[in-house]
Amino acid sequence: MTAHPDPTSPGGYRTLAEMDADLVDCRACPRLVAWREQVAREKRASFRDETYWGRPVPGLGPADAKLLLVGLAPAAHGGNRTGRMFTGDRSGDFLFAAMHAVGLTNQPFAIDRDDGLRLLGTRISAPVHCAPPDNKPTPTERDTCRDWLITELGLLAPTVRAVLVLGAFGWQTLLPILAQTGWSIPRPRPKFGHGVHLSLPPQRPDRRPLELFGCYHVSQQNTFTKRLTPAMLEAVLTDAKEAAGL
Ligand code: SF4
Repeated sequence: MTAHPDPTSPGGYRTLAEMDADLVDCRACPRLVAWREQVAREKRASFRDETYWGRPVPGLGPADAKLLLVGLAPAAHGGNRTGRMFTGDRSGDFLFAAMHAVGLTNQPFAIDRDDGLRLLGTRISAPVHCAPPDNKPTPTERDTCRDWLITELGLLAPTVRAVLVLGAFGWQTLLPILAQTGWSIPRPRPKFGHGVHLSLPPQRPDRRPLELFGCYHVSQQNTFTKRLTPAMLEAVLTDAKEAAGL
């Protein structure tokens, strides 16, 4: 199964569960398929007794979420191991602790698929669903995967009221997707920045206004250097949560 070809609608999928059932079988990007499976076979020594997921990682969280978080792509030994977006690595530890602090999860940690984690009114997804080498998908891989996020946004549209983008890659990828999915993007296109907030008017009668927020990515490069602190992340999450009506 390849990425869904219909760019303007939920594309025949009635639910996110249906979409995700196809997404996890996607093999549209040969380099990423080879990499995710190689990592899953070879493993990191500290996880050698675990069975890696090694497949596309679907969005995490309820299908009627009011708030959507968009990152970059799963991490090789994080989401590609656990099968859950943003879980199983230090970036996830940082993110889920902050989400819990502002009331967006039921617990401050995510370890494995059986840890009881629940996201409250919030879903986490990414423009690229397979772990890329060096966390860098190619432009072709980014474009190949975008239809999944277009479809996901279409299915979330009845409830989603705010989107928080983690990092410049997600921002640059998401703006054209939002335009294609039914929201108006200012011209010139607004640049990514931490704390940037835009209100996007709907372009279709079945869309509601959408509040868009930018936040530095929760990568260790940002969190170890204190470019992004827990307080900074919690502040943006709080703004996005309120804008979403949560
Ligand atoms: Fe499919 Fe996206 Fe993975 Fe490419 S990155 S193989 S389009 S799920």
